[in-house]
Amino acid sequence: MAFAEVLDQKVPKKILCGALRKNFLASTYLFYGDQGTGKWAMALELAKAINCEKGQREACDACSSCLKIDKMIHPDVKMIFPVPSVKSKEKDSKEIERYKKLKQEEPYTIVRFDRKVNIPVEYIRTLQREIHLKPFEGKRKVIIIAEAEKMHNSSANSLLKILEEPPLDVNVILTSNDVNKLLPTVVSRCQQIRFGKIPTSIIEEKLMEAYHIDKEKASYYANICNGSYGKALDFLRGEKENLRRDTVDLLGVATHGKTSQIIQMVNQMLNRWDRNSILEMFEFLVSISRDIYMVQEGSYRLINSDMASDVVKLSEKFERQNKVEHVFRMADQIRFDCQIRNASQKLGLLSLCLKIKELSNREAIIP
Ligand SMILES: [Zn+2]
Repeated sequence: MAFAEVLDQKVPKKILCGALRKNFLASTYLFYGDQGTGKWAMALELAKAINCEKGQREACDACSSCLKIDKMIHPDVKMIFPVPSVKSKEKDSKEIERYKKLKQEEPYTIVRFDRKVNIPVEYIRTLQREIHLKPFEGKRKVIIIAEAEKMHNSSANSLLKILEEPPLDVNVILTSNDVNKLLPTVVSRCQQIRFGKIPTSIIEEKLMEAYHIDKEKASYYANICNGSYGKALDFLRGEKENLRRDTVDLLGVATHGKTSQIIQMVNQMLNRWDRNSILEMFEFLVSISRDIYMVQEGSYRLINSDMASDVVKLSEKFERQNKVEHVFRMADQIRFDCQIRNASQKLGLLSLCLKIKELSNREAIIP
């Protein structure tokens, strides 16, 4: 099946496969529907199919053109994203890099901003100037404008000039989460393709495959995400944050607490998290203790930079670097034993925490 990277969306796939087969693509498409339903993923796959060097009318995912589009560095595939409304070229390019990185890692990611964003009119004006140049190395130029509803009227009017007379070797793809906010004159120039909700069973399966979570958890996220794989990922990542927080708290108890408190906390973790999560907890334990090691070395280039103050506090509990080194080597070994040799997670977690207790500086015993 073509567009295998895109979850479900049978109707859009049928329309686009047909157009590719008959060599009859519309000059402008508007992919619209809820966020996280695959519009961006589809735009990227379509750009690949159009320019694939194998010429099979679908992406081969191996030629130089497909690979460059995947990396978002193809000179003939221009991508435009909304940016925060701050007039600064440097900030713009930082935001664009962030957007690209997130989308490259996972095309279904819903990119969030901490302030109002729009698509600046200068971007569209530049496009207006460049669009008449011949493709540099691809067969056709493809312009993807993500979240097109974030264009102000001035941007939308500039775009309209392009859409009224698009060059023959250009395809424009607009994606929109809220088609009602687009100028009707823009909408009417596009072939509109609606992206519906993704069936729960498909989201569930994909979550299990891509993120190695168990069926029960995958089914929970699939049911609460309202047909948006992007939202399911949001929920999943939120949970990962909680897991990371719990890992730091566990380290806190292991370095400060009494044996009885450590046993209690380990039991709590095992009740709260499933097997795969506990394996990830070991991974976090490795990365956080590596960070502690870095702090002791005087370096602040931390993996968990958002938890720097916790890491510094924890670092004070180990008087020598080799003690911390012992912790992350042990955590890594136990993770391996649990994953590959099916060792007991409870025993692993408990022995690691008790070792941490032994290695860390104990404060004077309170009578
Ligand atoms: Zn290819």
